[in-house]
Amino acid sequence: MDYLAEKYLRPRKIPSTACSGCGLGVIQKALVKAIDELGYGVSDIIWGTSIGCAGRQTFATWKGDGFAGTHGRVYAIARGLRLAIPPEKKLVFTVGDGDAFGIGFNHLLHAARTNTQMTIAVCDNLGYQSTGGQFGWTTPSGVKTDSSPYGMFEPNWVRDDMDVLHILREAGATFLARHVSMDGPRLEATFKKALQNNGFSLVHVIYPCTTNFGNNALGTRRAVDIFRWIKERAAPLGEEREGVIWKTGIYYDASNSRPEFSELMREKVGEIHRRYQNEGAS
Ligand code: SF4
Repeated sequence: MDYLAEKYLRPRKIPSTACSGCGLGVIQKALVKAIDELGYGVSDIIWGTSIGCAGRQTFATWKGDGFAGTHGRVYAIARGLRLAIPPEKKLVFTVGDGDAFGIGFNHLLHAARTNTQMTIAVCDNLGYQSTGGQFGWTTPSGVKTDSSPYGMFEPNWVRDDMDVLHILREAGATFLARHVSMDGPRLEATFKKALQNNGFSLVHVIYPCTTNFGNNALGTRRAVDIFRWIKERAAPLGEEREGVIWKTGIYYDASNSRPEFSELMREKVGEIHRRYQNEGAS
């Protein structure tokens, strides 16, 4: 077991039950490394998970406190939890694309609107892979899946004219980024910035699903082929070239520029208490 796993993860959850070659572990490792480099301990973080591959594979892996939300509801739970826990504790989530950008999108928008502190890693396997590989809201155009055998035909959420990150920015998010899981140190650096925002941070990370996406879309389960397919379609922001789907890097950074939800709520409650105390005294 490596140093990070020993320090932060539950031994009984290692090795992961993810399929061989799955890119999920790389994302979790980058996030744990960022946590470590910022000097946070196990008790400083509450780790939430949801449904699907991302939720299932990272569920209860964190040694400290954690919880699992029902599908798409982790952001709503988090807003309540945020009010109950000490302000210095950080909420960190590993969720899937279907959870964040599909069924949970309404809750996600309200978490962004209120700038509630949470660092969300949206682990995107490009569709509903845990249920056999149906298309989802980020499946690239033209890609074959179990439910789009002639190619993905619906408009998705990752287009220049309709990007889910733009919607979240308009809703009030204060930190937004996109990466592919192979981004290594760049991904870790982004996670570090996301964690330092006392507000709503979301990092969208595309990763290879060897079992269903690879088999349906590319006709192979060979991890190296799927990694290459994704890598060839990603480039850092400002270095785009033809055929690039995923522009990687920080899309928006307004970290710590406006009050966090629970901070505002505590202030308001304090103000109301003071008002009634004064009225009672007069
Ligand atoms: S189905 Fe795909 S995303 Fe899910 S654990 Fe297996 S390889 Fe990973």
